[in-house]
Amino acid sequence: MAEKKPKAKFPSELRFNLVSKDWIVIATGRARRPETFKEEGREDTEKSQKTCPFCQMETQEKTTLIFVKGKKITLEKEIPKDWTTIVIPNKFPAVLPGESLNERAEGPYQLMDGVGFHEVVVTRNHQKDIPQLKREEVKEVIDAYQERYLEFMNEKFVNYVSIFHNHGARAGASIAHPHSQIMAIPVTDPDIENSLVSSRRYWDTHQKCLHCEMLRWDREDGRRVVFENEHFLALCPFASRMAFQIRIYPKTHLSYFERIAEKQKLSLSEVLQKALQKLRKGLGDPAYNFYLRTSPCDGKDHSHYHWHFEILPRIGIQAGFEFGAGIEISTIEPERAAEYLRKQ
Ligand SMILES: [Zn+2]
Ligand SMILES: [Zn+2]
Repeated sequence: MAEKKPKAKFPSELRFNLVSKDWIVIATGRARRPETFKEEGREDTEKSQKTCPFCQMETQEKTTLIFVKGKKITLEKEIPKDWTTIVIPNKFPAVLPGESLNERAEGPYQLMDGVGFHEVVVTRNHQKDIPQLKREEVKEVIDAYQERYLEFMNEKFVNYVSIFHNHGARAGASIAHPHSQIMAIPVTDPDIENSLVSSRRYWDTHQKCLHCEMLRWDREDGRRVVFENEHFLALCPFASRMAFQIRIYPKTHLSYFERIAEKQKLSLSEVLQKALQKLRKGLGDPAYNFYLRTSPCDGKDHSHYHWHFEILPRIGIQAGFEFGAGIEISTIEPERAAEYLRKQ
């Protein structure tokens, strides 16, 4: 009898924390040697530009989306020299395409293969991140988010699409060249589930959206508002998790980011850029993460939810209390943070 070849181990695993209900990605395919976990200082930009993989885009094997000055172009073999925004698969993916989830148990533990998609959205200029780009260039990034979201949401094992941007080594950016990431995954984090449950409860009890209520209150009150335009509002949330946290809401009730309209995208570009410019100016280019919070694409109705972007500057430190009690300590009142940012 021929020996059965053992099934190759999928390079990424999703492990379930039975107690907290968190999903954890164990991505050994990212192959970091233990010594590379050492704290790295901020790279010298000029030095990093010479070896930057995103400045040598012609060496990329595959692209999934290319823009040239606001126009989407059909994918060809050659990457055009004048590309402005490009989307490529992540070279060190945390999740990767697979045929099945291979859900299984190991004693009391549950796990599955880390099936999904992990891509990188890269803008052209090595030195300029979102605060320094032209408004149309920021819109291109939002266009790329939406375009890839729409593509991923119909994939078989995708139930949540996470879009995020890390700026600075302290915020987890391992490549200095400005870029965002998109991860399409089969599971929804309990933190997102929690938010969905709270907004559904509020909706069922009051027949209103909780987020719309907070927005209305904050706009009238004004103290926590950072910037607003026709369609969007940036504010420092009442219960900010971190000092100078900024949240960007669409002003009308919208549950699904992927349905954002053309004119709203321009408006969002302005508010996102203004918020990040204010952080940059007011706090001296701090490291930050921003990410999208939107309804899962799991086929269920989430019309009670209100999507938004969250910006978290990495200026504080998470220490024992934050990890132990799960409660964040923010060292400035959001009202004072917003007042300061409005002046920038
Ligand atoms: Zn670069
Ligand atoms: Zn709402």
